[in-house]
Amino acid sequence: MIKYSYMLNTPAPFAWNFCPICGGSLESRDDGESLRPHCGRCSRFYYLNPVPAACCVVNDGNGKVVFVQRAVEPAKGLWTLPGGFVEVGETTDEAALRELEEETDIRGRQPRLFGASTQPSALSGAVVVLGYRVDEWEGNMTARSDAMDVGLFGHVERPPLAFEAHRELLALYDALDGLVQADESTG
Ligand SMILES: [Zn+2]
Repeated sequence: MIKYSYMLNTPAPFAWNFCPICGGSLESRDDGESLRPHCGRCSRFYYLNPVPAACCVVNDGNGKVVFVQRAVEPAKGLWTLPGGFVEVGETTDEAALRELEEETDIRGRQPRLFGASTQPSALSGAVVVLGYRVDEWEGNMTARSDAMDVGLFGHVERPPLAFEAHRELLALYDALDGLVQADESTG
């Protein structure tokens, strides 16, 4: 049986009780690999997968990055990287740039995937957040949608981030950015 380290601190099991197709009760059943929710009426197994999300590290070219302050729960009043859930019909790149524009009015170009973070989620069981680096952007930064404030922060000025996935991705971004700068200074 596979154990995932990121699930160890999940506060409560995320469980489905009813079949979303026919409304029948789901029962735990072995599909030959693992115990999974099963609908006897539909003869259908359900697989609990993490929900994909995307976020952006937008930088000003001088070491500052864009944070947004959340106007809604969860984590209302706390700061995050601009981002959100991927919707059916768009790519993960498009989701990252759409969420960026919705929250900050910034239009980004050529997002570059630099990492992923998988975390438990009370809302959906687990999320996979893809981190995109955005170096090229335009527009006047304005808080919109579910953001109450937006700003550029240097490394020492940064407020704490609300979500573990964003903390992990920003640390990765910083590490990669350090490598890029070190590479440029020696090259
Ligand atoms: Zn069913």
